[in-house]
Amino acid sequence: VQVAESTTAVPDGAAAVRYELAAVRYATLRSSKRELYYRYDSYGEPDGPVDMDYFFWVLRDGQRTVLIDTGFDPGVGSRRGRTCLVAPLAALARLGIERQTVSHVVVTHLHYDHIGNLAQFPDAELIVPARELEFWASPMAAKFQFASHVEPAEITELQRAQREGRVRLTDGEQEILPGVKAIRVGGHSPGQLVTIVSGRSGDVVLTSDAVHFYAELERERPFGVLADLGEMYAAYALIKQLAARPGAVVVAGHDPDVMRRFGPWDEGSEELAVRVVAR
Ligand SMILES: [Zn+2]
Repeated sequence: VQVAESTTAVPDGAAAVRYELAAVRYATLRSSKRELYYRYDSYGEPDGPVDMDYFFWVLRDGQRTVLIDTGFDPGVGSRRGRTCLVAPLAALARLGIERQTVSHVVVTHLHYDHIGNLAQFPDAELIVPARELEFWASPMAAKFQFASHVEPAEITELQRAQREGRVRLTDGEQEILPGVKAIRVGGHSPGQLVTIVSGRSGDVVLTSDAVHFYAELERERPFGVLADLGEMYAAYALIKQLAARPGAVVVAGHDPDVMRRFGPWDEGSEELAVRVVAR
């Protein structure tokens, strides 16, 4: 994927779009390096515990409220042994966001912990990677190592939304909303999206599951759940390139460190959400 050399200036007369951006932590799981990283034993290092957090993301400007993913359904999460800290819909309410005001949901990929509550946003436009919808409707998606990461009923829900005309497909690199770009990187899942939000001082790169943990980027260690290893490495390279731009910050998809790298969303939300700003 080619990335433009520089961010383009805002055209004359057009107001620059300024989003507020929250990373919302709604669940957690105690796991281990062996469990999480691809062929961890090959590094010849001892195993150790790793906490994996679960997030979704909220973008707001004066006109719109946009969700990037919707977290897992609490019932599904508990069946899968995840500790739900706060149900995603309750988390939204605690942040003062009414779900009726959500105009768009960007779906980064179709795993259960990213599309669990889609049915709760019946009026939102869903922006979905074409490659994801295609893949999860294909016979390959039924194979165990793919199928174990999704809930068929949730995919059916998304397909229904598509029949209702509420799905906008994206592919390659596209501006999906003013000041918001999506790049399909694949790797973790065939259509995996990275979302880039332009800010005053630089870009915020929301990796979702293209990067679960910062260590994947820093040490080039692929995550254990993958559809294409080469694409996963290429996604790391692309994200590093994006991160090297002036002011840019990277928000990893499942890393507890996100809660420490950024300040609280507001007073009283320290455990729940951080306010993501470029440097
Ligand atoms: Zn995933």
